[in-house]
Amino acid sequence: MTSVSVVLFTSDLRVHDHPPLRAALRAADRVVPLFVLDEAVRRAGFDVPNRRAFLAGALADLDASLRGRGGRLVLREGPLVDEVCAVVRETDAREVHLAAGVSGFALRREERLREALREQGCALRVHDGVITALPPGEVTPQGRDHFAVFTPYLRRWEAAGTRKALGAPRRVDVPDVASAELPSAEVAQASPGLPEGGESVGRKRFATWLSSGVDDYARRHDELAGEGTSRLSPYLHFGCLSPVELVHRTRSRGGAGAEAFVRQLAWRDFHHQTLHARPRAAHADYRTHQDRWRTDEDDAAAWREGRTGYPIVDAAMRQLRHEGWMHNRARLLVASFLVKTLYLDWRIGARHFLDLLVDGDVANNQLNWQWMAGTGTDTRPNRVLNPLTQARRFDPDGVYVRRWVPELRALEGRAAHEPWKAGDVDYPAPIIDLADGLARFRSARGLE
Ligand code: FAD
Repeated sequence: MTSVSVVLFTSDLRVHDHPPLRAALRAADRVVPLFVLDEAVRRAGFDVPNRRAFLAGALADLDASLRGRGGRLVLREGPLVDEVCAVVRETDAREVHLAAGVSGFALRREERLREALREQGCALRVHDGVITALPPGEVTPQGRDHFAVFTPYLRRWEAAGTRKALGAPRRVDVPDVASAELPSAEVAQASPGLPEGGESVGRKRFATWLSSGVDDYARRHDELAGEGTSRLSPYLHFGCLSPVELVHRTRSRGGAGAEAFVRQLAWRDFHHQTLHARPRAAHADYRTHQDRWRTDEDDAAAWREGRTGYPIVDAAMRQLRHEGWMHNRARLLVASFLVKTLYLDWRIGARHFLDLLVDGDVANNQLNWQWMAGTGTDTRPNRVLNPLTQARRFDPDGVYVRRWVPELRALEGRAAHEPWKAGDVDYPAPIIDLADGLARFRSARGLE
């Protein structure tokens, strides 16, 4: 009789450098590569059009890669624990292999699955270092369960090193088991400028980035109008790319750009280790300042719709709606505008980002929002980014603004940053005076 193991894919939709897949293949003659469209993900509000469209591409690509190795992807739809247990029963599987999760949602799901499988006499094998380069908790400061400050974390992260990256398996033999149809990539309300999902596209983009992007990264990563960053975030979020492999291959390239890029991957791990240790930080202040945030719906709507009257903010918000993605510098400045200038609750902004971002990720999104709100791990919690200064610095010729705010295309150079000075343009007046916003924030934080 042949033995069977199940590999449950979640945020790790790839065949290269996939420890659970390799372990399952070692443990059994046949392997069920399983993905469950989990009802609970939908109920929790994570199943939004942009990520659903990208996920469909990633699943189709994973299926194609497995077919190229003699197998296929098995898809089920329903409550995840019930569906995995059903597949285990139908195939007599002895083990289920899974990448360790990070969020409270993933950890609770893992526990329920372990319990249900135990009752069926099946073991759950959880693999670390699949979703992040370094597993959360692998490095900790003396006497604490996680790092609250990035720089000391980075030192220990660099010293710890990462495990070796694994190649893709040659063959995957899958037993006879039913599968639902893969979801369609045609998703209503998805942003028109979304990137295509999947490991194959992700690997090509990474190869191009390594050969012709990363060298300039340290110098160009803050340019709003240019293509100075990798745009690999959705591929990392869905695990189409392995962070371990990215760290190794980038390091072997060498140079200041490569070093700076690897540091960003450490930021990603940093936020993941924080969320893993403090799951409540997904919703509650990590370090509270007793803020009594405003929730004004008119201001929030103007921000969401890109009509605050500050072109750099509006350009970024419109890029988000069109591409399901936004430049990091733009994310920082629109977040500062929402939480500090408008003094609106960071959760309002974080929710909108999660509704649209194709890379929308609980650890990276919620903790970056908290970083900018000053309720997270930023060591300067009261810093405020002035949108005009940011615009002059990171979009000096107004190219980014004019790209996303067509009403301002007639304005030349920096004039596009301050249309209210130009006279007759069809564009909203600023919804707030920056000095008033700053005064309100400083008074709310007791800094006056
Ligand atoms: P690159 O500059 O090429 O960086 C490479 C990779 O490093 C990124 O793909 C990402 O995985 C990681 N990275 C870079 N910067 C950060 C950072 N500050 N924190 C954590 N990881 C980072 N990133 C997400 O992946 N998902 C989110 O939901 C998300 N929400 C954010 C919300 C706010 C308010 C802010 C300020 C930042 C957020 N980020 C988020 C982090 C960052 O903006 C994006 O990862 C980055 O812009 C993605 O573009 P890129 O792939 O070209 O990045």
